[in-house]
Amino acid sequence: MTRMTIDIIEIPNADITCSTCKACCCRLEVMIITDTGVPDEHIARDKWGSETMLRLDDGWCSALDRDTFMCTIYENRPWICREFEMGSYECQTERSA
Ligand code: SF4
Ligand code: SF4
Repeated sequence: MTRMTIDIIEIPNADITCSTCKACCCRLEVMIITDTGVPDEHIARDKWGSETMLRLDDGWCSALDRDTFMCTIYENRPWICREFEMGSYECQTERSA
């Protein structure tokens, strides 16, 4: 007997770009799990010492430039930000939220 498997491949939507988005994903909680050199002033720590990107009262990450909606610490952004793929399912979910 053979068992059939179907690979589910996530195909990013190429019509979506960050340039037409007000950085929706930068309002999500971003855990800092590796040291990429995020400046201390952008880090929030809870009482157990776990680190996330600091979010300001408007909901966005404190490292986001509010005028350009660009990341001001792009070279040092957390690993999770590097992995978040433009046009992916997660991206589309955030844009439609
Ligand atoms: S990755 Fe997606 S949600 Fe994030 S800024 Fe780009 S288009 Fe917007
Ligand atoms: S570090 Fe940069 S890419 Fe990551 S959430 Fe903040 S502004 Fe967005």
